[in-house]
Amino acid sequence: RVVVVGSANVDLVVDVPRPPRGGETILGGDLRRNPGGKGANQAVAAALAGGAETTFVGALGADDSADLLLTSLERAGVRTDLTGRADAPTGTALITVSPDGENTIVVAPGANARLELDTARTARIAAADVVLAQLEIPLDVVRGASAARGPGVLMALNAAPAQALPDDVWDAIDLLIVNEHEAVELTQAAGSAAELAAMLLERVSAVVITLGRGGCVVAEKGRDPLRIPGFSVDAVDTTGAGDTFCGVLAAALARGLELAEAARLACAAGALAVTRPGAQSAVPTAAEVAALAAL
Ligand code: ADP
Repeated sequence: RVVVVGSANVDLVVDVPRPPRGGETILGGDLRRNPGGKGANQAVAAALAGGAETTFVGALGADDSADLLLTSLERAGVRTDLTGRADAPTGTALITVSPDGENTIVVAPGANARLELDTARTARIAAADVVLAQLEIPLDVVRGASAARGPGVLMALNAAPAQALPDDVWDAIDLLIVNEHEAVELTQAAGSAAELAAMLLERVSAVVITLGRGGCVVAEKGRDPLRIPGFSVDAVDTTGAGDTFCGVLAAALARGLELAEAARLACAAGALAVTRPGAQSAVPTAAEVAALAAL
């Protein structure tokens, strides 16, 4: 069982000829309204691509955006009985996409900033195998989720968007999942992925650093770091690759796989996600992941 504690956003996406400058109005393409947010994306991935019983603990608003997100979560098989409604608009990301792939993004956290843990949520976390959180929700909720764990529950943090972590948050997590950029941000150092992982292992007992098409590096205290190669695919849209990776990694760990095996499945899932447009809409099925991983 996986409990994802995190954000849900509606992504409002417009293709533009170039990013607008301050004070400027430009015309773009048709508006797209996609279910997103790191928490909801990872929950969809854990359930659909990871095949784990998955609960999404998050906060939506009382608006149409909430319905869009609930539909996407439920279609993937995510349990939404602990997905609440806060007295604020559903989190929204305003995104422009330029032809060269350069994006501008403004996030209005809305309901995500109001997420709280109540008794029912705490009880579900206590009974989980893996709890997976990110940094688009208040840090106090991450602390609370970690504190609510029963014995043997693994606390995984995808430290995205990158921000410096207080000591007590480092102490609250068992597994850190970051991309290279976030690893540099957290260590304030330069180096190879293996070197960055070694530095992060001074703070946490297991680390996974994702490397885009290059796969990932897995590092556990007391063992040599391991490089898991990426799967070669034709990339169409890299949105959601990292979230798909995190969700599948958590699901595979919840099913009892070793970290390196879980990371290989997560790499296969991330690779499939980049072959399709969107975030939640790009998440593959568990059968597709198994087929690619078997190659
Ligand atoms: P993020 O989206 O957080 O920046 P990455 O770009 O590192 O994360 O992607 C996460 C994972 O998705 C990678 O570890 C890899 O397994 C997979 N992936 C991402 N981009 C590609 C690609 N172009 N080809 C194959 N796999 C990819």
